[in-house]
Amino acid sequence: AAPAILDQLRAKLSPAGDVVSPKGRELTQKVFGEPLAPAAVVDRICNDIQRDGDTALLRYCQALDGADLDAASLRVPAAELQQAHAAADPEFLQCIRRIAENIRTFQSAILHQDVTITPKPGVNLTQRYVPLRRIGVCVPGGAAAYPSTVLMTVVPAQVAGVGEIAVVAPPTKFGSYNNDILATCHELGVTEVYRMGGAQAVAAMAFGTDTVPAVDKIVGPGNLFVALAKKQVYGDVDIDSIAGPSEVIVIADETANPAHVAADLLSQAEHSPGSAILISWSQSLLDATLAALGEQLATLERSDLTLPSLEAYGALILVDDREQARQMTDAFAPEHLHIQCESARQLATSIRNAGATFIGNHTPVALGDYAAGPSHVLPTSGTARWAAGLSSNDFVRSGSMIEFDQTGLENIADDVELLATKEGLTAHRRSISIRR
Ligand code: NAD
Repeated sequence: AAPAILDQLRAKLSPAGDVVSPKGRELTQKVFGEPLAPAAVVDRICNDIQRDGDTALLRYCQALDGADLDAASLRVPAAELQQAHAAADPEFLQCIRRIAENIRTFQSAILHQDVTITPKPGVNLTQRYVPLRRIGVCVPGGAAAYPSTVLMTVVPAQVAGVGEIAVVAPPTKFGSYNNDILATCHELGVTEVYRMGGAQAVAAMAFGTDTVPAVDKIVGPGNLFVALAKKQVYGDVDIDSIAGPSEVIVIADETANPAHVAADLLSQAEHSPGSAILISWSQSLLDATLAALGEQLATLERSDLTLPSLEAYGALILVDDREQARQMTDAFAPEHLHIQCESARQLATSIRNAGATFIGNHTPVALGDYAAGPSHVLPTSGTARWAAGLSSNDFVRSGSMIEFDQTGLENIADDVELLATKEGLTAHRRSISIRR
């Protein structure tokens, strides 16, 4: 029944499966006067902001986040960013600096470089990469503050050479009124921070308002409203991905430490919703992990959130062997994959579909979430079949450059003329023949 369980989990873990809480539904009723579905809410917000700009934006900031802002206070003043930085814990700032350096090192190493080839005499072909001019970063702030998200999005964009970076975070104590968030922005040299979140922030950045200049690409995680808004504005701007709830598959055998495996599963379930799936061919490892989960849950600070998440989105799956574990994992295409078994690296490289793979007992997912270097903004909901995690390469656009001289042109002219004739595009043919 294992694949059936995974299918059920996959269905629940789509962005649309991210069910709105009763409180969220109440808010929808209050603001819109009717029980609109999240997609209809987002549609309404995007259309209103596209039509009415700042007026609609400020109205939604008030209605959805209770923030009394005007066009002047929407943007965080430079002095406030400086004050937040000055007031920040020096150890926190040093930690931010060290992590930024780790991210910078990795993201610089993987950044695309221009490629030029001369395949034939007189032919010069280049693929060049130019940084995007202006991007927008969504930093979530509804339920928790994420300075790590500022790092994992802004630093790759800076490495790519993006000229302008606008950060948006909801006007909440976890968002743009959060000292750590503002201090992290200032530490990284971000000067443009707006007090807005949810679908209204995405729409404002996509369409532009008098106060918020439009961006070319919107990146960063968020709740269902953010995800649906990004989907809606794609085409007007580029986006990184449409994120659903976080997920991990852990593959472990009897060589793994059950207490460690349990800790890894809980660290994902803690996201609430977050999916934690253990796949093993060892019944004893599964039994021991189940016992360890019970023990650790009893002492976990967020156990009230973590247990329901584990019950709704978790699974312990017994398989026949490594090969079955590999097939199941590839079919599920998890956001995170952690392999803790013999020959872990070998199994890791045989699995095609995973956002980020963590190998061995000393590599918990939290290392990637916070500090290793690759971004923690990763493909969820099975999109790891075709999507990749955010990286510096998401902030460059490629373009080709083609240059022929007389010899190069002469050598290829017959082929172009023949094909142009076949397609009936005689003006194309003449643009070649006229030069011969
Ligand atoms: P959020 O900032 O994404 O969303 C809060 C905003 O949602 C509010 O400002 C409000 O405008 C809007 N909203 C809330 N209820 C609404 C309603 N009924 N109608 C219209 N708009 C409404 O913050 P969040 O809610 O804390 O969600 C953040 C999500 O991002 C979490 O699921 C978290 O796990 C995820 N996350 C992912 C990563 C990652 O990299 N994968 C990192 C950090 C956070």
